[in-house]
Amino acid sequence: MTIDVDTKLVGLLGFPLGHSLSPVMHNRAFATLGLNFHYLPIQVSEAHLPTVAAGLACMNFAGYNVTIPHKIRIMAHLDAVDDLARVIGAVNTVVLHEGRATGYNTDGAGYVRALETEGGVTVEGRKVVVLGCGGAARAIAMTLAFRGVGALTLCNRTAEKAHALAADINSRVRPCCGVAPMEPAALEAALAGAEVLINTTSMGMHPQEDRLPLEAGLLHRDLVVSDIVYNPRETRLLREAAARGCRVVHGLGMLVYQGVEGFRRWTGQEAPVEVMFAALREKLGG
Ligand code: NAP
Repeated sequence: MTIDVDTKLVGLLGFPLGHSLSPVMHNRAFATLGLNFHYLPIQVSEAHLPTVAAGLACMNFAGYNVTIPHKIRIMAHLDAVDDLARVIGAVNTVVLHEGRATGYNTDGAGYVRALETEGGVTVEGRKVVVLGCGGAARAIAMTLAFRGVGALTLCNRTAEKAHALAADINSRVRPCCGVAPMEPAALEAALAGAEVLINTTSMGMHPQEDRLPLEAGLLHRDLVVSDIVYNPRETRLLREAAARGCRVVHGLGMLVYQGVEGFRRWTGQEAPVEVMFAALREKLGG
């Protein structure tokens, strides 16, 4: 790899950054297509975010990703934010063009593409149950509503958060969202007739691999069961679902496809999806 005056840079802004998977995924993809692009982690504190955002817009950057804790705050430093990112209330991808910064949220679109590709289901008209109401759930649920989901049921340990998100979706996107308590009888009723179950809670994530977000006996074979946790790559929820004959969707797909959306916006080219999956599998092991 040669970095020269023509190299277009892409960054990841966050604090603290830790060991992000995005640099290896994007750099492998740039190299595979022979693109003179390079992806860099850029650790930036909250106090320096405005200065860095203004600086990147005048440099040889094609854009950047934004991660915790800057996904909301960055919006105040952009020239434009697209409609979906605005209702989600967070930006994870910024495109720079002639000094102008435009913000997008590709998490939900990435999730939907993983669901369609791996789960073999389209979103329109489906009955979907979402467990969890954190940042990832918000991006996914808003995107599902945008894409014409039939009925969405939100279940969260902290019920107020589920009610607040449902009200936001119903008033700002479409009236398609309800709430169910996160307890067995209510979950059983919500899952009857549902076609897709999405776990967005961190239950089942390393080091709590044994935990399930709901009783496995509630899963039925007509469900596509999806878990956005990608460490471990196959969660206990997905193993229990597969054992009951459900089609399953792994969390790695969301991570790859949110990056694929950004890659296309920065480079104008379709990303080499399989190369990106392979880079992440290598990095995560196995
Ligand atoms: P977050 O904003 O902190 O939300 C966490 C959610 O999990 C909340 O709904 C929380 O409920 C729930 N939760 C946590 N511990 C729980 C427990 N013991 N019992 C019941 N519910 C519990 O986190 P996030 O950013 O949305 O991320 C959530 C998960 O998705 C993480 O595992 C993350 O690694 C994964 N993720 C994956 C991708 C991907 O690309 N595949 C992208 C983003 C995130 P309360 O509201 O009651 O606290």
